[in-house]
Amino acid sequence: MEISQDSQVLKSLESLGQFVGATPLFEVQHLSPKPSVKIFAKMEWMQFGGSVKTRPAYNIIKGALKSGELGNGKTLLDASSGNTALAYATIGARLGIPVTICLPENASWERKKLLKGLGVNIVYTSKFGSSDESEAKAEEMYRNDPDKYFLANQYGNENNWMSHYQGTGPEIYGALGDQITHFVTGLGTTGSFTGITKYLKEQKPDIKAIGLQPDGALHGLEGWKDMETAKVPGIYDKAVVDEIKHVDTYDAYDLIKETARREGLLLSPSSAANLKGAIDVANEIDSGVVVTLFPDNAEKYSEIIKSLF
Ligand code: PMP
Repeated sequence: MEISQDSQVLKSLESLGQFVGATPLFEVQHLSPKPSVKIFAKMEWMQFGGSVKTRPAYNIIKGALKSGELGNGKTLLDASSGNTALAYATIGARLGIPVTICLPENASWERKKLLKGLGVNIVYTSKFGSSDESEAKAEEMYRNDPDKYFLANQYGNENNWMSHYQGTGPEIYGALGDQITHFVTGLGTTGSFTGITKYLKEQKPDIKAIGLQPDGALHGLEGWKDMETAKVPGIYDKAVVDEIKHVDTYDAYDLIKETARREGLLLSPSSAANLKGAIDVANEIDSGVVVTLFPDNAEKYSEIIKSLF
């Protein structure tokens, strides 16, 4: 009985695979500062669950089902205030895997409603605490009941960066090849930066990899928080970083409006920060091909939409 249930889950997982990865590359035409530099952005929101976190969540769940850490009614448990939670929630709902998320109390109402609508059990941690507090809560719950839970641990799980090393990186290189000169993206768990950079540098060692951190007045708001790291994640590999750049959050905010009007895209704060980082790099070089990611779009950031349009 249990075995057939789990083989059904694995079958559903395989069929979900068609909605994971294989995202298109968008050429940013009107906002590129000079014709000799091309800017491409990988549209990571065009996946099941709608964000850059689809690939890691899918790969983490796949790994845990195969190793037996998940399945047989076990609950996936992790801390996340953002896209990772939504990715676990959407995949979990589809596969019939229960999901429990530790979330700071001051997460936005959209996050809470979307997660509840997807059937997630939310455990709130203090609104004054950092994301470290929700991580500690998840670890404590796991320690207290290890038979009930699979602790997904996105900050330390190798299947996070591996999903980008095996998927996003090869897709980018497959499309653009060795014309790529720069790869630029924000650092959250660092899974996307680490996985993609490792793959690209194996193909072409002189590609420059630039990690972004948000800075300035809007720092700490929903959306920019997704690309902040309170502590250094376990999966971070500083050996692959050529430079860390800071992106001013006001500049990125202005870009959301401009990109809507001129490129027809509704960017989230972190997608706009990535584009700002790519434009800054383009301004510093004479020619080249700069690649970045668009992690998600504006749809679930109602405060941003209200204030901009
Ligand atoms: N932007 C958004 C909107 C995200 O949700 C995340 C992931 N938390 C990131 C950027 C950073 O990605 P990573 O965790 O791979 O570093």
